Amino acid sequence: TDRMAGIAALAVSAMTEREWARFAQSHPKSHKLAQEAQAHFPGSVPMSWMTDWATPFPIFAKQASGARIWDVDGNAYSDFCLGDTGSMFGHSPAPVVEALREHADKGLTYMLPTEDAIAVGELLSHRFGLPYWQMATTATDANRFVLRLARGITGRPKILVFNGCYHGTVDDTYLRLRGNHQIPRPGLIGQVQDLTAVATVIEFNDLDALEAKLMEGDIAAVICEPAMTNIGMVLPEPGFHEQMRALTRRYGTLLVIDETHCISTGPGGYTRAYGLDPDFLTLGKPISGGIPSAVYGYTAEVADRIRKAQQSVPHGHSGIGTTLSANALSLHLMRVVLEQVMTPQAYAHMEAMSKALAEGVESVIHARALPWHVARVGSRAEIVFSAKPPRNGTEAAATLIEPLEKALHLYFINRGVMIAPFHNMTLCCPATAKADVEKLVTALGACVDELKKG
Ligand code: PMP
Repeated sequence: TDRMAGIAALAVSAMTEREWARFAQSHPKSHKLAQEAQAHFPGSVPMSWMTDWATPFPIFAKQASGARIWDVDGNAYSDFCLGDTGSMFGHSPAPVVEALREHADKGLTYMLPTEDAIAVGELLSHRFGLPYWQMATTATDANRFVLRLARGITGRPKILVFNGCYHGTVDDTYLRLRGNHQIPRPGLIGQVQDLTAVATVIEFNDLDALEAKLMEGDIAAVICEPAMTNIGMVLPEPGFHEQMRALTRRYGTLLVIDETHCISTGPGGYTRAYGLDPDFLTLGKPISGGIPSAVYGYTAEVADRIRKAQQSVPHGHSGIGTTLSANALSLHLMRVVLEQVMTPQAYAHMEAMSKALAEGVESVIHARALPWHVARVGSRAEIVFSAKPPRNGTEAAATLIEPLEKALHLYFINRGVMIAPFHNMTLCCPATAKADVEKLVTALGACVDELKKG
């Protein structure tokens, strides 16, 4: 088609060409490093996803602090990506830096609990309302372990996911809907199992489909983000969560809420802000201030069922656990983050900045009569390329217009603004200033004006 979300396709490709040239000119050192890296790293990067950026070659980072990041060429960026949530409370928050220094020579991992565990248990329970907790190293693993436990205690084989979801590299969440067919997510490598034997996928906000699947009696758990944030953004319709909770209870299916992104909502995540009542809650990424760490919590009833299920099996090889999980350092940092970083005051600022960002973007959209809108969960705001908010994953997928998205991201980067490389996701951290937000809004307006001129 010759137009995409109100913009001429030719203007998008012309802009991409101009911005590539501009980028190459201002990033010679990154270019050189990218060439050198090719000797040992496919795509020039030590982790494959680092090629997902809109840039013609990766930006090599030098350092970051608060809401700012600098590259090896000396370019500075207002950072709204924040390590795709790993640094959502800013880069190197002062209490985390101090705790790192203070803990550095005490040994880092012992396979023994420390006193910090007592404090962390209390802090997590108080914050999220679930009494029992375990640690993992990544949100991916927290989700994997929880799904294993859910199957273990229900004796049921399947999990239910929503079309367009992302919960980490957990194989059995990689199902997509294409029309009425359930297919493995395109791109998934090395999958030899039939995923439909262990999982099922339906659309978000579809309570009829949910009940129809739950009635079959073979679903151990539903896993979901409170609002979908990995396919653009899809907000839950009024009553959806309440009804889902009632239905999962009625059919004996456990409910897993993945707060890894929606922790942007407030200190107790979306769960506490909206009174969700999950059986399991998972959270990773920023929980130890950027050091790999994740947690999962569960109810007393679940704890009891786990204990009973494990009575009959030999101890020690449950399929759960990795050596570095709950190491002394990450546990200590988690305590510091919960006590001093993820505070109500921090959230108040983050939310105010994100609200200002959303309003600024909306004014650009209205002034240029663009068929776009902004969706927001607390400090996380998404620029969506559709006039109407999508109801589910299929509608959301239709708003992902890659050439336009990449042109916009590159235009931003060339003007010192960085947003997540996936769709149009922005995060505001406690160090985000009004000037950062204004820079993004101004760059967006200028970008659209150039695109409209062609
Ligand atoms: N859950 C959600 C909702 C996520 O968005 C992600 C990552 N984007 C994960 C889990 C996985 O996190 P990690 O890659 O740190 O394991």
